Amino acid sequence: MKPVIALVGRPNVGKSTLFNRLTKTRDAIVADFAGLTRDRHYGNGKHGRIEFIVIDTGGFEPDASSGIYMEMAKQTRQAVAEADVVLFVVDARAGISAQDHEIAKYLRKLGKSCVLLANKAEGLKEGAQLVEFFELGLGEVVPISASHGQGIKPLLDLALTALVPEQPDGEFAEVDPAVIKLAVAGRPNVGKSTLINTWLGEERLVAFDMPGTTRDAITVPFERNGQKFELIDTAGLRRKGRVFEAIEKFSVVKTLQAIESAGVALLLIDATQGVTDQDAHIAGYILESGRAVVLAVNKWDAIDEYQRELVKRSLETRMGFLKFATVHFISAQKRQGLGPLWDSIAQAHRAANRKMSTPVLTRLLLEAVQFQTPKKSGMYRPKLRYAHQGGMNPPIIVIHGNSLEHVTDAYKRFLEGRFRKEFDLVGTPLKIQFKSSE
Ligand code: GDP
Ligand code: GDP
Repeated sequence: MKPVIALVGRPNVGKSTLFNRLTKTRDAIVADFAGLTRDRHYGNGKHGRIEFIVIDTGGFEPDASSGIYMEMAKQTRQAVAEADVVLFVVDARAGISAQDHEIAKYLRKLGKSCVLLANKAEGLKEGAQLVEFFELGLGEVVPISASHGQGIKPLLDLALTALVPEQPDGEFAEVDPAVIKLAVAGRPNVGKSTLINTWLGEERLVAFDMPGTTRDAITVPFERNGQKFELIDTAGLRRKGRVFEAIEKFSVVKTLQAIESAGVALLLIDATQGVTDQDAHIAGYILESGRAVVLAVNKWDAIDEYQRELVKRSLETRMGFLKFATVHFISAQKRQGLGPLWDSIAQAHRAANRKMSTPVLTRLLLEAVQFQTPKKSGMYRPKLRYAHQGGMNPPIIVIHGNSLEHVTDAYKRFLEGRFRKEFDLVGTPLKIQFKSSE
């Protein structure tokens, strides 16, 4: 599971600036997808080989008069509670405020791993201005400059090393590539537990033993038509005996972690509600994580033809960025449309792990260029020479040549379409990167 870092602090100290800095390397993945509304509070970051989740608790705006606990949004409090480490940001230039004291008091009570950051410290002489922050009773203060990018690396070293134990040689968790790890994601009430219980009640579904799975962990290994699956820790659900039940608390952190550790995410949407903001955000997390995805619109039984048309249209407008995913219209309760879901899940898993050889990729590329030459831009005409696979899950295709920065988005989409068709890349994001040799 990826470690979770929460950014906490009063308004204006630079939390969102720091959030942007910590997550910017991953932004490139989603930059190409039009229509994706980002949830600016949750993002992915990477420090060396360690990947982590960052939460900007923008809603944490304590008010001394009404008491901090009243003012903190429930979601925010939950996020802080679920974080592995809290970065408490103060303003090195403004000094300590009453709000800082309130937050410090809260964090001391929480008793979790906490790093105190003095932001906007660029150009400041360390000693003098920073000593006053010791008053907060949270130990050493680390000076950083979020906007100038100073002190970020030492900060992450400090925050993450303690959380991610070094993996001794030979003790890597065994991953069986034949097992599809599946996360069923979706906001509360979309029908996740109904679907899972319907599945687990099916006789074609056989539970099997897997090393390392404990009884109380919410992972269920099972087999269907010879394909092994592992249903992973599904956010918002609790296992009670043989059945799953929904718990009232929805946790974005758990949802993110479940998506991250899955091979395929099945995103459920409630047909009676249409596509909501929260659905779009969860879809955004899935896209950002690079996971293969299958969409299922549940409760299809509960709406009429007219409403069905509206739902289909809202899928197009609000989930357009997942158009590589297969959509199913199902009823978990009435057991309708469930069979084909399995095929799409397996297909998405295969696509995410597809191996593409350099000769075939290059042949396809050159055929595409012959079919349609990239447009000239000013004095330059991009010259596409060869392609190779740069990664899996999600698949990455690296194209080499000259003047490739002039390849248009439209042409990139054209290439993506050809690659997707040839390699049957349904249900997985695909990244195309250009490397000019000039
Ligand atoms: P938030 O309300 O805590 O999310 O704060 P923001 O990230 O919106 O930043 C508040 C203001 O502080 C903005 O005007 C930023 O440009 C500025 N700021 C953020 N980080 C730094 C920094 O490292 N140095 C300086 N001088 N200004 C900063
Ligand atoms: P979860 O919070 O995502 O696990 O959602 P639940 O599985 O608890 O379902 C929420 C509600 O939707 C329950 O009242 C279910 O009976 C109902 N529900 C689930 N699936 C369907 C369906 O396919 N059709 C209809 N009409 N209702 C459903």
